Amino acid sequence: MNHKSCGDRAGEGFRPSFTLLAEDEATSARRGKLSLFHGEVNTPAFMPVGTYGTVKAMTPEEVEGLGAEIILGNTYHLYLRPGHELIRDMGGLHEFMNWRRPILTDSGGYQVFSLNELRKITEEGVTFQSHLDGSRHMLTPERVVEIEEALGSDVMMVLDECPPHPSSREYLERSLALTNRWALRSLDARRRPELALFAILQGGMDPELRARAASELCGQPFDGFAIGGLSVGEGQELMLKTLEATTPHMPRSRPRYLMGVGTPSDIVEAVARGVDMFDCVLPTRNARNGMFFTSKGKIAIKLARFERDELPPDEGCGCYTCRNYSRAYIRHLFRTREILASRLITGHNLYYYQSLMKRIRAALEAGTFPAFLNDFRAGQEVLQ
Ligand SMILES: [Zn+2]
Repeated sequence: MNHKSCGDRAGEGFRPSFTLLAEDEATSARRGKLSLFHGEVNTPAFMPVGTYGTVKAMTPEEVEGLGAEIILGNTYHLYLRPGHELIRDMGGLHEFMNWRRPILTDSGGYQVFSLNELRKITEEGVTFQSHLDGSRHMLTPERVVEIEEALGSDVMMVLDECPPHPSSREYLERSLALTNRWALRSLDARRRPELALFAILQGGMDPELRARAASELCGQPFDGFAIGGLSVGEGQELMLKTLEATTPHMPRSRPRYLMGVGTPSDIVEAVARGVDMFDCVLPTRNARNGMFFTSKGKIAIKLARFERDELPPDEGCGCYTCRNYSRAYIRHLFRTREILASRLITGHNLYYYQSLMKRIRAALEAGTFPAFLNDFRAGQEVLQ
């Protein structure tokens, strides 16, 4: 393979950049191109989640073939197992997992807060016990950047605190101030400027705190800005309202990443509000639970009504699964717990998400995004 490896000297002069190619006049939607160390990413983009250095059930070649230009890895999980030093010694995460395009790594903050009850947050960082063996660890903003640089991540996320929803205003304010101080420390800790570093805007559902997060961080030399702390059970309406209170305060010239979101409808609505990048476990996790995302809504393949259904999972879909297999056969595979069921459904779901992003980008290029948005919303209403 001819991809750049972790210690490639070609990286010395490279700097990540973002180019805005088109902006919709009626909404805040944008079409852009993100240039990263391991290649270009067309935005709006959906990033399949590969927490442990694998998009579950798919080979890297298959993920690329489905249209993904960037995938996600998780710093917390890879740090605990197999360890970032091992991955660095194996040539970096790209080499280790045989993925040649860009990788974004989540900082692990979210996992520390969601998987560890015994965590302790101080100004210095967060101390926690491994959910694997109970061993004690400390992650600081500096340590997280060091781990992400060892992995060779194209987009490194800063360590942040993701407050639970709902939280009191006092808690949110204190937490935001700490998250912002940690973000500035992360900038200072960076040693590899060829790898992008994104800050994370927090502030709960409070519009004033969201604006404060943007005003304190968006003037800093981060390569992009993420919106964190959404899709935490607040519901789509409040999530979109919070987005509307956030994106107008973010710089036009930098990519905007909405973390952990979401359903096809969440993505389309967030694009209309100015978001460029997304990641979510839904298409892959739900696939393993037998759920197809289709142009006509969600399908639970286990239902008895598909027992003798000769149709493909999503009529009109051009993916490998839909071109070759019936609902009845995949239902049979799922009921007999065959591995192939996970592979076929994951393949379709990722294809569906990537083709949705392609249609969004094409509409933005053609100047027809408002019509696309109306059609999409109308199609969703029929389903629900
Ligand atoms: Zn399909």
